Amino acid sequence: MKNTKTIKINEIFYSLQGEGTDIGFPTIFIRLTGCNLRCTYCDTKYAYYDGKEMSISKILTALSKWNCNRICITGGEPLLQKNIFSLISQLRKKNYEISIETNGSLNITKLTQLAVAIKMDVKLPTSGENHKMQLQNVSKLRITDELKFIIGNKTDFISAKTIIETHKPTCNIIMQPIWGKVKNLANWILKHQLNVRYSPQLHKILWGETKGK
Ligand code: SF4
Repeated sequence: MKNTKTIKINEIFYSLQGEGTDIGFPTIFIRLTGCNLRCTYCDTKYAYYDGKEMSISKILTALSKWNCNRICITGGEPLLQKNIFSLISQLRKKNYEISIETNGSLNITKLTQLAVAIKMDVKLPTSGENHKMQLQNVSKLRITDELKFIIGNKTDFISAKTIIETHKPTCNIIMQPIWGKVKNLANWILKHQLNVRYSPQLHKILWGETKGK
């Protein structure tokens, strides 16, 4: 039976995962329209409003052209759309391996009950949106999930370190420099002996800031 529930989609594309623990794996990205934040360094402003409503059946058909089992749901902020949980359920029925990127400002409790890898940001001072974070989310992340900090300067780094020490997440922790801005992040991680993974943005190294890559 066709699933006629709709979701506003900005783009669906196939590329290499550019960030985090799955870096380098071929992945299908489903980018949803809309975001409740306006981070200073946002590189996906085109996803704030642009997109078209697609039924879940049509989304599944669009995915089938690639021989790929790995899906990353991203945005924007995917949790803003009420039919996201129906989409996840249909993707699970097709045995896709799913990760979902969320910006840390919305409650993730419902997601933690599902077989999806949560990749959650915690926004730091450089973003201008750090005051909107729900830091109680951090300790809800499971061992298979991922917590990501985008670092713009030393203040951001120290702020991330404090959040780690306070909330003691058990998941993978990623630190990623803002593209082209921070040179010393690797040295700070080593100097402070933090058990985190430095992540570049592979897609930008390979293709620059090209949309749909
Ligand atoms: S949460 Fe992501 S999509 Fe939204 S403004 Fe920040 S960087 Fe951009």
